Amino acid sequence: MTDEFLPYSLPHIDDDDINAVVEVLKSGWLTTGPKCEEFESKLAEYIGCKYVVAVSSCSAALHLACIGFDIGPGDEVITTPLTFAATINQILHVGAKPIFVDIDINTGLIDIDKIEEKITPKTKALLPVHYAGMSCDLDGLKILAEKYSIRIIEDAAHAIGTQYKGKKVGADSDAACYSFYPIKNMTTIEGGAIATNSETVSNLARKYALHGISKDAWKRYRAEGTWFYEVLHCGFKYNLTDVQAALGLQQLKKLDSMIAIRNSYAEIYYDRLRDLKDLVLPPREKNGVHAYQLFVVRVQEGAKYTRNDFIDKLRSRGIGTTVNFIPVPLHPYYRDTLSLAIDDYPVTNQFYSQCVSLPLYPKMSIADVNRVCDTIFEIMS
Ligand SMILES: *Cc1c(COP(=O)(O)O)cnc(C)c1O
Repeated sequence: MTDEFLPYSLPHIDDDDINAVVEVLKSGWLTTGPKCEEFESKLAEYIGCKYVVAVSSCSAALHLACIGFDIGPGDEVITTPLTFAATINQILHVGAKPIFVDIDINTGLIDIDKIEEKITPKTKALLPVHYAGMSCDLDGLKILAEKYSIRIIEDAAHAIGTQYKGKKVGADSDAACYSFYPIKNMTTIEGGAIATNSETVSNLARKYALHGISKDAWKRYRAEGTWFYEVLHCGFKYNLTDVQAALGLQQLKKLDSMIAIRNSYAEIYYDRLRDLKDLVLPPREKNGVHAYQLFVVRVQEGAKYTRNDFIDKLRSRGIGTTVNFIPVPLHPYYRDTLSLAIDDYPVTNQFYSQCVSLPLYPKMSIADVNRVCDTIFEIMS
């Protein structure tokens, strides 16, 4: 057994990725251009949706989705307290109010049975997170959205490649927002995309992502373009570069095989950790394909070690883990400005106090996965 530190996550970059990036660097066209266009059309084909706009991050994608659906001051957006800051900040950036619904203890997903009681005439959208790469109950969410004429903006930061009832997450969406951050399921270093079936949202997102300039602004520097453009909105600088898109195109080719590796490693965890009384393993996906962006176990109450001690023991034996996520109500900014109390979200608080994300990524070897299992047994038994 090696004593080398095993990080909780690492990106998977191969020579094809590197060559594709170098090719764009040598091409003379670095920022948004033909590679971005190609990346968008390949993503739309992969996801099975009408439109994709590639942008600089999932945070940007979520912001643009909120703008696309005209969400603003006076509006409420229903979301989960078990998420990253990026989800909440976009709701606040457009001036709307996030309303939190507690989670399901088994999945970590928003508890669909508790959403309806939080819907008011001000509710403009639901913003669920496909936590860990498992799809939310999209059919259930759609029934609610139709009943109350509200939109669904999906935080699919963990869910590129996730499938629900035979279709990719994003295929039938109002808007689904993906992250290509280095440790997500595929990477463009920094990057993201918004998948939508609304032409309006797609057009608005594209314009707002580049200063609010009339479309295809980048073509003005090329032979077929002209110098003329008009600013139609007060937009942002959220475009993806062609260098990043070239990396994304290569990563997308490998995405399904990388997700297959994640699934096969998850199976090893299920197999080997099944009988360990101190840990609760994540539920398996029954309705589709889990992308296993994360493999989150929960340390049972009354276990040999608390969650924090368990993390420390693993670290001292060379295994990196993390906690996804510190609940929104525990961060001082949200707690103070939105008057949130964690006691109002008891399930989230319980999940948070117990959860540990184990290493799971294609760059690990099977021996690494077994080493994590051996180490957990050593600590817990
Ligand atoms: C990573 C992450 C984001 C943000 O993604 P970026 O591409 O870094 O902006 C948003 N939501 C969730 C749930 C995430 O894990």
